[in-house]
Formats: sequence, C-alpha cells, structure tokens
Amino acid sequence: MNVLIVHAHPEPGSLNGALKDFAVERLQAAGHAVQVSDLYAMNWKAPLDAGDSLDYEPGARFDPSLDSKRAFANDRQSADIALEQDKLRWADALILQFPLWWFSMPAILKGWVERVYAYGFAYGVGEHSDVRWGSRYGEGSMAGKRAMLIVTTGGWESHYSARGINGPMDDVLFPIHHGILYYPGFDVLPPFVVHRTSRIDEIRFTAIRDELGQRLDDLWQTAPIPFRPQNAGEYEIPALTLKAEVAPERVGFAAHIAQEGV
Ligand code: FAD
Repeated sequence: MNVLIVHAHPEPGSLNGALKDFAVERLQAAGHAVQVSDLYAMNWKAPLDAGDSLDYEPGARFDPSLDSKRAFANDRQSADIALEQDKLRWADALILQFPLWWFSMPAILKGWVERVYAYGFAYGVGEHSDVRWGSRYGEGSMAGKRAMLIVTTGGWESHYSARGINGPMDDVLFPIHHGILYYPGFDVLPPFVVHRTSRIDEIRFTAIRDELGQRLDDLWQTAPIPFRPQNAGEYEIPALTLKAEVAPERVGFAAHIAQEGV
C-alpha cells in the first residue's frame, strides 16, 4: 500500500520528528511505499493567495474559491499544490502528524490543507442540486482511502477526558476528523495521541513507539470512526440536519457518529 505522511514540526530532533522517522521505517519494513511531506523542511508556503493560480492577473479581484476552481480545472495551479495533489491521488492512506498547537494543527499544516484541497479536488465535487449536496462526508475524491492523525499534546489525558477542562479529545479533533478528512471522503481511523509530552523518558518513549507500531501494523484492519454519511438517508435535504428519528437524544459533534443501534 502507499502511505503519505504529512509532517508538521519545525525541529527534526523533536519527539514528532522521532515518531515520523519511526513510522516511515515501520511502514517500509512492512512492505509499504511511503512518501513524506515534511512541511517545514519543504518551506511550505502556508497562505492561500492569488499567486496559487498561474493565471492570476495583478490587480484583478481575487476570489479564493473560484480562482481555485479555475486553476484546478485548467491545470493552472501553482506547482507545489499540484505535486501534493498527486501524492494524495497516489496514497492509499494519509497520515497527518503534528503537535497540538492551540487546540488544532500548526498553521503550516492548515495552510497545506487550504491550498492542496482545491475546489473540484476536495470540495465542490459531485452533483449539487435541490436533492443532492455534492459528494462529501463519506463520498468524494478521497473515497476508499484511509486517514489517521498522529498528535502529541502537552496536556494530560485527563485534561482531554469527557469532563476534562480542555474538552474531550474527540471534540477537539472533530473539525479535523470530520471536516478535513471525512468531508472529502477518507475513512478516518481513531487518532494516535501522545499526551503529556513533557514527561517522556526512554521507557515511555519505547512504549509509545511500540503502541504506534501496532497502530501502523493495523492500518488496514482498524475500524474507522463511524461518521454518518451525508447521502445515505439520515439527513434532511437540503437542510442537512439529522432526521428527527435518528439518534433523537443526541446533539452536537457526537450526533454525527453512529453508535450501536442508532
Ligand atoms: P519535544 O519537545 O521535542 O519532546 C517532548 C519530550 O519527549 C522531550 O522532553 C523528551 O523527553 C522526549 N523526547 C523527544 N524526542 C525523543 C526521542 N527521540 N527519544 C526519546 N524521548 C524523546 N498542548 C496542548 O495540550 N494543547 C494546546 O493547545 C497546545 N498548544 C500549544 C501551542 C504552541 C504554540 C506550542 C509551542 C505548544 C503547545 N502545546 C499545547 C504543547 C505541545 O502540544 C507540545 O509541546 C508538543 O506536543 C510536544 O511535541 P514535540 O514534538 O515538540 O516534543
């Protein structure tokens, strides 16, 4: 299988750097092909702007969505964007790897998403009509591919527990899992999270590596998070609210995850 790791940490000698190197070795040893987009090493340009389209004329009004749509459709995107899209087409699995910074991904990785996820590539895909709101949330360009986060946090596991002060980790990561990965069609696996990174000695580091190694070995067997597909009859069209009979007692992020029987 082909695995793309998109890695966002400025220091190769960091914990994240070590886990990235370990992941590459483990996957390759299992016979998988691996590509790494090491965003800081690549000096990845984070801001989405007019220069992302080769056809942009100075002085013209820049429309982030429509210019992206035209550039993608006409093969006139900036070369760095097109290259990352090719890597995504190639990949059977995508791993986003990063330290949690201000409850989300580092800005350089958000900029990778914003620029690489072009209109027509990751959104604006499929039929948009009164009866169908595109191919997304379970369908789309990335359907059939798997995705997983490898995330490190300074906060403790308890800080991210159901009643922890930071909010549950499933909620913190929901916009990435559901909005960035499930939206264009990935099957999203439960994340691999390393908490309390200030307390890592060699013994714990070895345990973390072993656990991550197991997750990588199981990449194609692990059950994805059962997000509800948009176009399978559970949502009202065009409001896209859950139908009254679907998990009526649940609201918020959790309502969009199917649980046993509901
Ligand atoms: P490092 O600092 O590189 O390493 C951490 C520890 O791991 C080291 O001290 C060392 O003991 C060990 N280690 C590293 N490499 C190895 C190795 N090769 N072998 C053995 N042991 C090793 N945290 C939150 O919980 N929520 C937030 O919202 C949040 N926001 C942040 C925002 C910013 C801007 C910053 C800078 C930090 C934030 N943090 C937050 C903390 C952050 O998530 C952690 O600092 C980060 O996850 C640590 O990962 P690292 O790769 O930088 O670790």
